[in-house]
Amino acid sequence: MLMAAFSATISGSSRFLSPTSLPKRKISGFSPSPQCRSFPLPKAFPLSRSNISSRLERGKSLTIHAQTSVSDISVEKSVDEVNLPQGDMWAVHKFGGTCVGTSQRIKNVADIIISDDSERKLVVISAMSKVTDMMYDLINKAQSRDDSYVSALDAVLEKHNSTALDLLDGDDLATFLSQLHHDVSNLKAMLRAIYIAGHVTASFSDFVVGHGELWSAQMLSYVVRKSGIDCKWMDTREVLIVNPTSSNQVDPDFTESERKLEKWFSQNPSKIIIATGFIASTPQNIPTTLKRDGSDFSAAIMGALFRARQVTIWTDVDGVYSADPRKVSEAVILRKLSYQEAWEMSYFGANVLHPRTIIPVMRYDIPIVIRNIFNLSAPGTKICRSASDDVDGQNVDSPVKGFATIDNLALVNVEGTGMAGVPGTASAIFSAVKDVGANVIMISQASSEHSVCFAVPEKEVKAVAEALQSRFRQALDAGRLSQVAVIPNCSILAAVGQKMASTPGVSATLFNALAKANINIRAIAQGCSEYNITAVLKREDCIRALRAVHSRFYLSRTTIAMGIIGPGLIGAALLDQLRDQVAVLKEEFNIDLRVMGITGSRTMLLSEVGIDLSRWRELLKQKGQVADLEKFTQHVHGNHFIPNTALVDCTADSNVASCYHDWLCKGIHVITPNKKANSGPLDKYLKLRALQRQSYTHYFYEATVGAGLPIVSTLRGLLETGDRILRIEGIFSGTLSYIFNNFTGTRTFSEVVAEAKEAGYTEPDPRDDLSGTDVARKVIILARESGLKLELSDIPVQTLVPEPLRATASAEDFMKQLPQFDTDMAKERQDAEESREVLRYVGVVDAINQKGVVELRRYNKSHPFAQLSGSDNIIAFTTTRYKEQPLIVRGPGAGAQVTAGGVFSDILRLASYLGAPS
Ligand code: ADP
Ligand code: ASP
Ligand code: MG
Repeated sequence: MLMAAFSATISGSSRFLSPTSLPKRKISGFSPSPQCRSFPLPKAFPLSRSNISSRLERGKSLTIHAQTSVSDISVEKSVDEVNLPQGDMWAVHKFGGTCVGTSQRIKNVADIIISDDSERKLVVISAMSKVTDMMYDLINKAQSRDDSYVSALDAVLEKHNSTALDLLDGDDLATFLSQLHHDVSNLKAMLRAIYIAGHVTASFSDFVVGHGELWSAQMLSYVVRKSGIDCKWMDTREVLIVNPTSSNQVDPDFTESERKLEKWFSQNPSKIIIATGFIASTPQNIPTTLKRDGSDFSAAIMGALFRARQVTIWTDVDGVYSADPRKVSEAVILRKLSYQEAWEMSYFGANVLHPRTIIPVMRYDIPIVIRNIFNLSAPGTKICRSASDDVDGQNVDSPVKGFATIDNLALVNVEGTGMAGVPGTASAIFSAVKDVGANVIMISQASSEHSVCFAVPEKEVKAVAEALQSRFRQALDAGRLSQVAVIPNCSILAAVGQKMASTPGVSATLFNALAKANINIRAIAQGCSEYNITAVLKREDCIRALRAVHSRFYLSRTTIAMGIIGPGLIGAALLDQLRDQVAVLKEEFNIDLRVMGITGSRTMLLSEVGIDLSRWRELLKQKGQVADLEKFTQHVHGNHFIPNTALVDCTADSNVASCYHDWLCKGIHVITPNKKANSGPLDKYLKLRALQRQSYTHYFYEATVGAGLPIVSTLRGLLETGDRILRIEGIFSGTLSYIFNNFTGTRTFSEVVAEAKEAGYTEPDPRDDLSGTDVARKVIILARESGLKLELSDIPVQTLVPEPLRATASAEDFMKQLPQFDTDMAKERQDAEESREVLRYVGVVDAINQKGVVELRRYNKSHPFAQLSGSDNIIAFTTTRYKEQPLIVRGPGAGAQVTAGGVFSDILRLASYLGAPS
């Protein structure tokens, strides 16, 4: 019986016990499975026939064949010869580390194996979760002479010991534990040697790390057998032969592996085989591995060797998602993928599947199905030759199937005028890169041949840059090359999909989504197979980019992370409107608005996933923290799972308004009814607008004029379609509209003001309305929108606050004293009346003479301005096209509900600019 792959004892002279090979018939009764195997040892530990005592302790009938290779056993083969059955009768299952993380999970795996009614089953098993990491850690510790490797090894032992105690009993338990302890004592000896040497060879390391799979496979096979079902376990090092390559990978030798498999099977014929994933042997019988996460690859190779009907890869997610579900919470399961698509996804970092898993199965058209062991009701993802058919109504027509990213890259840019038209430059560059063993992940060269840029893993870039500097020293000195530049901290974002090949516009949509998320692209590549478009970005932008493109291709909704500043009258009304509408927007329009924060001047409420708007008032009270606008902004924008951020300023604060520029620079969209920014200093306003125009970041402020009425958008529409504004004249203040609509001679002016105040139409201090400043701000906003370069101070404003009352301390005092001035206003009204006119407080933009004014004017009773009621606004645009009759917008232009409605419609405008369906 081969209990361990080989056993080792290390004495002071670093001797190593030989491997053994045992014919089956001599060890009957020994379980789990009699197997014959030997491994030549790493050269640092020469074999010694004399040092075999520990092996003999465990089985008196053991025969030792030191240094015997598998081929040496062939003489004994004929006795048990059984032809290897191949074909559809075989189902291959692979269980990842997460599936065998605990004893309960191992039992669960056994149940799944047993319940599969396939005629024959081959199960490939990973090490228990985290074990491979622990094993690598042992080596690192020993190699760096950190003696905590001893306790770390104890932890590995304990993990398996306690799992075995849970799972097994009787002889099975005793045999497994004796094997485990034996292996661990060998490992201890090996690690000690590594510790002493301060060095480890690749083959030693591979030998050590592969133990996780040896133990899990043995435990599982005991558990299956315990339920009365026969099975054999396979140490795949006896079967899988691979050739190491220069790029730290291995290539399977299928012919040799098949030969070995036939031999193995003839000695271990079984309908259920439990095989170790990850481990293999070189042609020289040296233990090796298929490298990290290689069990998927093991399963695929086994599938090919058996010509299996299907390879099922069991893991902890429902299948292959359209993007890494840890990064994009809205990623969707892809029901079907072609081999090429799966390969591209896995190569570009979707670690649900090892990239090399595809090739072996593709050769025989064997489908792979990825399934979730924790959710058996999920059908999983099927990977097969063609993924074109529709799967259960899932939209497989989307040209992009999924997105993946690779982090920790650097770009190298080799640039110079001397490169153009010189044959061999690219070859010289890449041979220098090859010489330092670096892996080139993408390459891009513009057809001007002025520069070649490529991405390599960050850890390799220093060596690459040095190699290039030295290879091109002469060209650099002579100026034929201008530089070899390194751009660190990059990531790759790749879009994958077979249908991209025949669909125009995919890259346009992709890059447009990135532009809209304000993400700069450093380099791009698309091979002519067109299965993949690759973009290199700044690392810090990568997750945001992933989410932006993901949501753009309708794989998830147009999602906007919002921060609401100022939950006062307007802010609160907006939050309530959002509360009532977000579900409909999500369902019907694919727009997902998430309020990630609400801040007042004193308290703020932050959420990681979106505030429950039905409870925002109470949450703000209960969970509010001290307001800090910078922290607030960072929270709302720093959220990585939502591609777009919008801050909604519902204050009237100029300090908040002064942040807009900075926010837009950061790619944060700004929406506001706050007039302060657009009516503030002209230079700042111009800077803000210029920034807005250059970037793909939006700044919407419809509700600054006329609340929810379409004033700014109407004006823009006129200008953008080539109309010329001659004049804009209007009643812009709901308060003053109300006052003059009701000042009809039946009550005094002060009585009407008091009535308006009572009805809540005025500011707390009515002088804020009567002074006309607010109207002047609206005039300046429209004037600037029409292209006039005016400051607020350029607008003459006729104030309705009598001179002596301007300095009056309180609003109450003002209201008390206002009646003293009633006669002046009564006289004005009377004069107008006599000419069949009314008084109206208006703002005027005179685009022809480039000026504006705010004043009390008289209008004929037949004029539209004279027909108003309540607190309506009315705005008349006289333009080259609307010359005889102005274009008039009229309606309620004040109040929290309509203003909030205006802000809300700006938010939806933003969503549609960001790609929401209309
Ligand atoms: P196992 O131990 O079963 O082999 P892995 O950790 O190697 O599991 O792979 C599964 C993990 O891959 C998932 O838990 C998931 O977080 C991650 N993953 C990354 N990208 C994707 C993707 N596009 N689809 C599904 N899973 C992905
Ligand atoms: N156990 C190995 C690893 O963690 C192989 C695998 O699980 O795929 O890398
Ligand atoms: Mg894996």
